[in-house]
Amino acid sequence: MSQIAQEAARRRTFAIISHPDAGKTTLTEKLLLFSGAILSAGTVKGKKSGKFATSDWMEIEKQRGISVASSVMQFDYRQHVVNLLDTPGHEDFSEDTYRVLTAVDSALMVIDAAKGVEAQTIKLLNVCRLRDTPIVTFMNKYDREVRDSLELLDEVENILHIRCAPITWPIGMGKNFKGVYHILNDEIYLFEAGGEKLPHQFDVIKGINNARLDELFPIEIQQLREEIELVQAASNEFDLNAFLRGELTPVFFGSAINNFGIQEILNALIDWAPAPLPRETLERVVEPTENKFSGFVFKIQANMDAKHRDRIAFLRVCSGEFTRGMKIKHLRLNRDIAASSVVTFMSHTRELVEEAFAGDIIGIPNHGNIQIGDSFTEGERLTFTGIPFFAPELFRAVRIKNPLKMKQLQKGLQQLGEEGAVQVFRPHNGGDLILGAVGVLQFEVVTARLANEYGVDAVFESVSIWSARWVSCPDRKKLAEFEKANILNLATDAGGNLTYLAPNRVNLSLTEERWPDICFHETRELT
Ligand code: GDP
Repeated sequence: MSQIAQEAARRRTFAIISHPDAGKTTLTEKLLLFSGAILSAGTVKGKKSGKFATSDWMEIEKQRGISVASSVMQFDYRQHVVNLLDTPGHEDFSEDTYRVLTAVDSALMVIDAAKGVEAQTIKLLNVCRLRDTPIVTFMNKYDREVRDSLELLDEVENILHIRCAPITWPIGMGKNFKGVYHILNDEIYLFEAGGEKLPHQFDVIKGINNARLDELFPIEIQQLREEIELVQAASNEFDLNAFLRGELTPVFFGSAINNFGIQEILNALIDWAPAPLPRETLERVVEPTENKFSGFVFKIQANMDAKHRDRIAFLRVCSGEFTRGMKIKHLRLNRDIAASSVVTFMSHTRELVEEAFAGDIIGIPNHGNIQIGDSFTEGERLTFTGIPFFAPELFRAVRIKNPLKMKQLQKGLQQLGEEGAVQVFRPHNGGDLILGAVGVLQFEVVTARLANEYGVDAVFESVSIWSARWVSCPDRKKLAEFEKANILNLATDAGGNLTYLAPNRVNLSLTEERWPDICFHETRELT
């Protein structure tokens, strides 16, 4: 095997999907702890929201002396390189999350076992399903009173339409949580509360019929043995291929805050989750083992760091090897960039990348010339597909309190639009800029960022727009006719694409009927 193939084979790139408060942040920290990337837990204290404060990350960074970022974390485990991508954590749905999930090869679904399947989990899982992403499931918080375990599996199967294969099975819960039985290994791991415990400190008892279990749990053991028999008979056996097809999820039980169950998840990711997968482009399928470098940008973040006023484009490497200083081609602009300042992932120190392989995420600093969906290669024309923009469903017109700040407003919105934080439309009739979003929280984020980063107090007003459609037509003359006739409803988005803003459903259907040669697109994949 070539070195590139070997490096690709030992990479795992995944994201955690969960409803806020299920334990994503806690679990992230414990994954870092178990991998040895940080030395002690408890770094994230007093956190109320589902997001790490930057300062928490900086603490972790100081501790371990490597860079950690809220967006991408890389760590080593069992001779593998693991890339963990953060999915933005707010309750509202944002497009950013969709696009992060296009850059992973598997996902870890965390469920609060007291609550079961929640709204955000459903949405995120549906996104994963678009690409049949394999899912590992962790049922968290067994140190608390939680719901019946079989009922939880039923709920996952019925609501999320994915078959469950329990790998471990909980013994008790809450104050009576004793541990888990590992069905495949026929071992029992004894639970002990304590946030600092490391893996080897949990006691292991071999065999469900081990007499030690009768001594330890004289009351519960009979019931447990019966339950295990029932579970084994009633649930699906683990099937690696079904998992890789996204049809079946291995399920683990534990308590993230107590470090319990973490190692099993890490092992599942290493042993079962796929190494970087081939990626589709308009031109051909790109294999991760190919010698030449290629990748696509799935996320852009501006103003992350007051000291660095530029922006970072997050690129997922899809093939070959990236080495520091190599020249790569930015295909949309047909321009070589000298990639000497490319970083592994964001941090206040910004580590320079020495090398990166398929599955890794690299950050390219830029001043706004890189857009989401852009492809980079050593020269070959490749257009990665599947990085979606969604027709917004919520619209606001933007005004500013101080007209002298118009320039800042336009600059800010242009940047936030290119970042994908919100969609920005410039109406052809010269009216106010229009913002479009799929989740209402996006407007709040934009208001706050305009104020903080651009010093602009913007006012949003409702507009009578019902939906947007991207418009295309192979026949230029027809398109020009269409543009002329519909100038009042047309706009250009931040990426320069022609968009039809429909005031209502009826208008849209009538327009579609009237212009059969024009294509109206509900999603836009960057090409
Ligand atoms: P996120 O919003 O998904 O990132 O969730 P957090 O990791 O912030 O956790 C939400 C809350 O659940 C916090 O108060 C955690 O301390 C708590 N929590 C996380 N894991 C566990 C667990 O295993 N047991 C218990 N009892 N609480 C937990």
